[in-house]
Amino acid sequence: MVTGGASPLVVLLAAAAAVLVVLPVSPASALPAGLPDIKPPFPNPWSAFKKLSGCHFGDERRGLAKLKDYLWHFGYIPEASSSGRFNDLFDADMELAIKTYQSNFGLRVTGELDVATVTQMMAPRCGVADVVNGTSTMGNSSAVGLRGRGLFSYFSGSPMWSKKTLKYAIATSETSIDMATLSLVFARAFARWSAATMFSFTETAPDADADITIGFHAGDHGDGSAFDGPLGTLAHAFSPTDGRLHLDATETWVADGDVTLASSADAFDLESVAVHEIGHILGLDHSSLPDSIMYPTIAPRTMKVNLAADDVQGIQSLYEGNPNLEGAMPPTTSSRVMDMAAAVALSRPRYGLVGAAAAAVGLALAL
Ligand SMILES: [Zn+2]
Ligand SMILES: [Zn+2]
Repeated sequence: MVTGGASPLVVLLAAAAAVLVVLPVSPASALPAGLPDIKPPFPNPWSAFKKLSGCHFGDERRGLAKLKDYLWHFGYIPEASSSGRFNDLFDADMELAIKTYQSNFGLRVTGELDVATVTQMMAPRCGVADVVNGTSTMGNSSAVGLRGRGLFSYFSGSPMWSKKTLKYAIATSETSIDMATLSLVFARAFARWSAATMFSFTETAPDADADITIGFHAGDHGDGSAFDGPLGTLAHAFSPTDGRLHLDATETWVADGDVTLASSADAFDLESVAVHEIGHILGLDHSSLPDSIMYPTIAPRTMKVNLAADDVQGIQSLYEGNPNLEGAMPPTTSSRVMDMAAAVALSRPRYGLVGAAAAAVGLALAL
C-alpha cells in the first residue's frame, strides 16, 4: 500500500537526474512513451527483507537478525540478550512481534513473514516506535470501521504541554532548502494543528528560547536514533515536552511544489511529514488508521496534510479543542474544515522547484 503509483516514465526521468539539487518539475505527460521500468535512484535500506518472505517460526535464515533489529527499533521485541546481537533464528519472540506488527498495520495476523507483511515493513516510515514498554500503542486495527472508536494513541504516561503558546525554531545547516521556504512549510504544518486546538505556534530564532527545535540531520546526530540515508526512516520527533523534531537530510524532500509531479521516484513531501512529526511533538503516537496523519508510513510522491477525524479526536482528547471545530468530526467534515484552515493560513504554489536534499549533495553537506 505504500509503494505508490510511480509512473515508469517518471521513474526513468528520476534515474536520469539521479543527483539533483534544484530541478524544474515537468508534467509526466510531457515525457516520451514506451520506456522500460527501472529502479528508483536510491536503494531501500530495508530491501533485503524481501528475501525473508515465507519465513515462519522455527526457521533459521540469514538476514532474520537484521529484521529483529528493525522490530527492536520500532518497539516490537526487547533488546538482544547478553551477546548484544540478534541471531537469525525465527523464535517465539519474533513470532509474537510479527503478530503485533500485523495487528497494528491492519494486516492478516499470521505470525509469519508473508509478502504483505514484508512489503509493509519495507515502506518508508517515521522513526518513532509503534510499541512502548511492550504494549502496542497503535490501537486495535480490528476496530477499523467501528464508528466512534479512535485508533489514535499517546506516548506512555500521556505526556503533554501545559502551555498553549509554543515557539518553534528552524535550526538547520544540512539541507539545501532555503530558510524562507522552510518557514512557509512549517507555518502551514503547524496551522493544521492550531486549527484543531487552542495552541498557537510562532517561529522564533534558533538561539531564542524555543520550545520546539526543528533540524535536518544525516546519519548519527547524537540522540541515539541515527538516520539511515535515503528511504527507510524519514524523520522522528520526541514526546512532550522535549521539542526536538528531526528530518533525515538525505531524503529527497519536496518543500515547494507538487510532490505528485516530482522528478524523483523517492521524493517525499516535507509538509506532509512535518504535520505527522508535529503530532508527536504535541503528544500523539502512531495510529493504525491508514488515512490518519499519525499512521507511521507514507509512500513517496504522496501529499497527506489534512488531519483525519482520528487525529482530531486524538488531539482533542488530550487538549482543549478549538471551538471553531466541533469535537471529533467525520472524515469528510474534517478534511473540508482543515482545507479551509490551511487555505486561510497560507497559500501554496501548485508548481515550483524541487528543493531536494538529494543523497550525494545532502551527504556532502553533512560531512
Ligand atoms: Zn511517527
Ligand atoms: Zn534525531
